[in-house]
Formats: sequence, C-alpha cells, structure tokens
Amino acid sequence: MSQFTRRSFLKATGVAAAATTALGYSSFAIGGAKKKVVIVGGGIGGATAAKYIKMMDSSIDVTLIEANKHYHTCFMSNEVIGGLRSIDSIRFGYDGLKKHGVNVVHDWVTSIDPDKRVVKTKGGGSFGYDRCIVSPGIDFRWDTIEGYDAKVAEKIPHAWKAGPQTLLLQKQLKAMRDGGTVVIAPPPNPFRCPPGPYERASLIAAYLKKHKPKSKIIILDPKDKFSKFGLFTEGWKRHYGFGTDNSMIEWVSGAKGGKVESVDANSWTVTAAVEDFKADVINIIPAQKAGKIAFSTGLTNEKGWCPIDGKTFESKIHKNIHVIGDASVASPLPKSGYAANSEAKVAAAAVVALLNGGKAPQPSWVNTCYSIIHPGEGISVAMVYAYRDGKIVKVKGSGGLTPKEFDAEMRAREEQYAHSWFKNITSDVFG
Ligand SMILES: Cc1cc2nc3c(=O)[nH]c(=O)nc-3n(C[C@H](O)[C@H](O)[C@H](O)COP(=O)(O)OP(=O)(O)OC[C@H]3O[C@@H](n4cnc5c(N)ncnc54)[C@H](O)[C@@H]3O)c2cc1C
Repeated sequence: MSQFTRRSFLKATGVAAAATTALGYSSFAIGGAKKKVVIVGGGIGGATAAKYIKMMDSSIDVTLIEANKHYHTCFMSNEVIGGLRSIDSIRFGYDGLKKHGVNVVHDWVTSIDPDKRVVKTKGGGSFGYDRCIVSPGIDFRWDTIEGYDAKVAEKIPHAWKAGPQTLLLQKQLKAMRDGGTVVIAPPPNPFRCPPGPYERASLIAAYLKKHKPKSKIIILDPKDKFSKFGLFTEGWKRHYGFGTDNSMIEWVSGAKGGKVESVDANSWTVTAAVEDFKADVINIIPAQKAGKIAFSTGLTNEKGWCPIDGKTFESKIHKNIHVIGDASVASPLPKSGYAANSEAKVAAAAVVALLNGGKAPQPSWVNTCYSIIHPGEGISVAMVYAYRDGKIVKVKGSGGLTPKEFDAEMRAREEQYAHSWFKNITSDVFG
C-alpha cells in the first residue's frame, strides 16, 4: 500500500463524492404514482440511504424502519469505554431525517416478502415497496464459544453494538481493582471494524495506565495478524511497554493458542487453546454474520453474509432488494461505518435512477478508518474503490496508511482528524 498523502487522497475522494452525489434528479414522479422505498435498519447505512434518496429525488416516498428511537454510534464508543467521552456524545436521534421528509417508523421488522414486495413489523405495520434497502448490521454466532451466549453477554459484554453494552464494560473497568486482569477476545475474520478490538485494547490500556497501573490486558486472538498491526504494536511499545516483561498489553496470536474455546461466567475464566485465564473483566467479541432479517428473508449465502451486485448493491438472490453496510459481501470494502455510508450513497443513486427509468451510475467508494492509540495520538488507513469489470476494486495509488516513522505532531493531527471525521459523518448521516 502506498504511503499516505492527504492531498492525493482528497483529490481522489473528491472524485468519489462527485460520482455518488451529483445525480441531480429533479422532483418528479413517473406516471403520477409515488414510487415507494422502504429501508430496514436506521443505522449508518440505512439512515444515509434514506436521507440521500430524499435529497436526490424528493418525490420518492421513503420509509425508514428502525427498532430503536436513538442510535449509538460504535465509532468513538471505545473512547466512552476508556472514560474519554460521554455516552450522550455518541447518541443520535431521527429528527434530522424527518426534516428531509423521511417517514421514520420505530418498530422491529419481522418479515420482508420479496415476491409481494411487502415489509411487515412486530407492531402490525405493513409497508409495500417498489425497492427495499436492507441495512441490518451484524448478528453474533453464539454457537462458536462454549458458555457464551446472548444471556451471558448481559454479564460479560461484547460491546460490539454500542449502547448499554458499552456502559456495562466501562462500569466493570471502573469497578476493577488495581492489579486486575482484563481479557479481550477479538473475533475471527470477517467482522465489523477490523481495527476496533485493538483500538479498544489501546484505550483500555490508557485508562488503566492512568487509574490502575498494576493491571494487565491479555488479548486472546484467533488470528495471527490484524489491521494496522505495525502501527498498533509500535504505539503499544511506546505507551504500554509492549514486548517487555512489564508490558501492560499481552497479545496471544492464533498460532500461539490465542483462540478462545470456552468461557465460565461463574468463575470468570476464559479457556483458550494455550491455557486458562482467570480475569477480572472479560470482553468477548464473538464471530459475526449478517443481521437476523437478512437470514429470514433468504438474502444470505452459506457463509452468512449477503451477496450483492457491486454496481447497485442489489441482492444477487432477491430482485428489488438492496443490501448495504456490514451485512453485505462488498470486499475489498471493509465492514466499517464509513464504507456503509459510501455504499448507501451508491445504492441510493442506483435506486433513484432505476425508479426513474434510468441506469445506475458508475459508482465509486471511499473509506478511512481512524484509531486512537492513546489520548493525543491517532493512526489511520484510507482507500478509494472503483467498480471495474463487474467487481469492486481498490484504486491503485489512492489512500494509504499513517507513516510508520513516529511523528508526534502528525499523530496528534490524526487524532484531530478522527474527531472531525466523527462530527462530519454523524451530521452527514443524521443531520
Ligand atoms: C468498537 C467499534 C468501533 C468502530 N469504529 C469505527 C470507525 O472508527 N470508523 C468506521 O467507519 N466504522 C467503525 N465501526 C464500524 C461501524 O460501526 C459499522 O461498520 C457500521 O455501524 C455499519 O453500519 P450498518 O448500517 O451496516 O449497521 P448498523 O449501524 O449497526 O445499523 C443497523 C441498524 O439496523 C437496526 N435493525 C436491525 N435489524 C432490524 C429489524 N429487523 N428491524 C428494525 N431495525 C433493525 C438496528 O437497530 C441498527 O440500528 C466501529 C464498530 C465498533 C464495534
């Protein structure tokens, strides 16, 4: 991957933004009847798609069905866990979308009928559609770690869907004695936010260093490498003594027996291939799959994710249903919020064009994943993607990685960029 140069990156992303937003459809409806789009899931993907369809063609009737009245972003939730920001700062409502003319319904979607084109909800609602966009996020594979299921997760949090789980983990860290052990178990690939578990380890370490310096973090990983590996481990060396006998963070790779096999919630013991670990705080992030509604609608493949056509994000299984965000198979795009936002714009542009009797435009996407290693220090990985020969591909020479040579000023700027990105994306999605 090429080294990061912000100027070339911005140039490339400017092209991407133009390709996905400058459709310029005016407000009209073909044949008088209003076209109907129903969107399932009002997280990053769904909320973005709803807003952008309305902005591109206000004549389309857009209904967004979301289970919760408020959405907590997973991004920056690691800062909440590390005591650096409040839970309220990552909480967003749906008034902004209503102002754009989106019909927001808070209910749980129980079924989507692809033949009759009808979405039904727990509360008895029934919504017909011309096109449906599904962005349900992830679900967990509860059958992969013995002793860990949805009930146990109420005591031993995954905190991989932000909200009460985020606060539970934060509370347990606060209550822990100095000298305690925190076990973090990242999931196998593919999963939501590849750098997320390692940012979490960094920010928990920063919290412990300040408040409980005799404590330790053990990362039990089924993998042998992870996103931004060199940058994380270099930062851990500088801040937390990584690699020394006194390191606050110990990382056990899959090859060294890091894969977690079982959890005993009574004795707070985690059993990995290498040995048993007694812990004071445990954070298990289980293996993942597409959100439940994707399965009951038959949108998933044998691996539990939703195959899509890269140009429109229309399902390869059911016509007129588009799947975006973490639930879709969109590799090399990562399962990130930024990618979900970018995919939503591509799907919105395709849906508006197709409903107006046109052709889906040529798409492009952008992603940047920031991680905070320590307060005042950020790192990032960025990439622009294009659609070529029926495939989503990385654009050569775009994006890059924070340079590995440590430069305090640049790393401080990266943290500022991370916080500024958070403000921008949340206002783009919910504002
Ligand atoms: C700790 C952590 C840190 C992260 N940091 C970053 C980061 O720095 N940058 C980044 O780009 N990404 C980050 N991510 C990833 C990002 O949060 C996800 O990739 C993103 O939220 C995916 O969007 P989505 O629309 O697919 O799913 P979600 O945002 O999870 O939205 C799904 C929504 O669908 C709703 N829903 C599901 N099923 C139904 C149903 N049947 N009926 C009604 N509603 C339903 C849910 O309530 C939810 O609101 C992070 C993730 C984690 C866990």
